[in-house]
Amino acid sequence: MDDDLTWVPWATPMRTRFRGITVREGMLVHGPAGWAEFSPFWDYGAAESRTWYEAAVASATRDWPSPVREVVAVNCTVPAVDAERAAAIVLAGHGCRTAKVKVAEPGQSLAEDVSRVAAVRDALGDGGRIRVDANGAWTVDEAVAALAALDRAAGGLEYVEQPCASVDELARVRRRCDVPVAADESIRRADDPYLVTAHEAADVAVLKVQPLGGVEACLRIAERIGIPVVVSSALESSVGITAGLALAAALPDLPYACGLGTVSLLEHDTVAKPLVPVDGVLPVGRVEPVTQSTATTVDEDTARRWVERLAAVEAIG
Ligand SMILES: [Mg+2]
Repeated sequence: MDDDLTWVPWATPMRTRFRGITVREGMLVHGPAGWAEFSPFWDYGAAESRTWYEAAVASATRDWPSPVREVVAVNCTVPAVDAERAAAIVLAGHGCRTAKVKVAEPGQSLAEDVSRVAAVRDALGDGGRIRVDANGAWTVDEAVAALAALDRAAGGLEYVEQPCASVDELARVRRRCDVPVAADESIRRADDPYLVTAHEAADVAVLKVQPLGGVEACLRIAERIGIPVVVSSALESSVGITAGLALAAALPDLPYACGLGTVSLLEHDTVAKPLVPVDGVLPVGRVEPVTQSTATTVDEDTARRWVERLAAVEAIG
């Protein structure tokens, strides 16, 4: 373990079940450059969590690249809730003019997705943009059929994130459908993030700082990948979100709102003033966590699990 680094476990319930999880937890790490976050989901094993660790250590020990903007436009996030709740989330969306709507949730129907997306369009008005995220749940045929219906309900979708699981399927959806395709899991869980462009499988690349190894690693991917980039969170607390903002702020071009306005999905945050958007944007810069907060006061079992996990990931280096 690096002696210059201090690690602090944290945990919070989610306000809404999202990505199948009800509790979000991880560790904060302090180093010479400031605070960072290590919070791989529990379905990531030690080897796969190593890039998350490297991202956290890089942010804690090195200055981020120079920003070219001071604020970053973000989308609001609508989980797989009913239409009424979806509209309420958009109306309370802190001025965000782009909404990302979860679709293809296991156990739900296309009709539920359509009514959720239609409610989001009503709440957002004509000028706003709507993107949907299927997290790889559809087959190619399901995606093509669902996207026709959702594109109508949205009055035009900005893009669909990860309609199917594999790169080959994304390419087939893209050939059969006018809705632009964004790749998320196909980049962050792939051995080769450039496969999506080699196979002409995506119009947009979703980059997440922790799973891709850090701000600078993501900047290098953005330079090489040849399609527009959207920076998204991995549902971090505000400390982790600052690294995503640092990446978004350093990108020469940023044509889409980023998926970094996610801390309101958490019940508690690691900072006193959570990074909730104002007028649809978030400020770029470091934050200080409150180390004696509700989020950082974890039970013994949680603390032990994270100390063990950190040791397992460090042992891989
Ligand atoms: Mg996604």
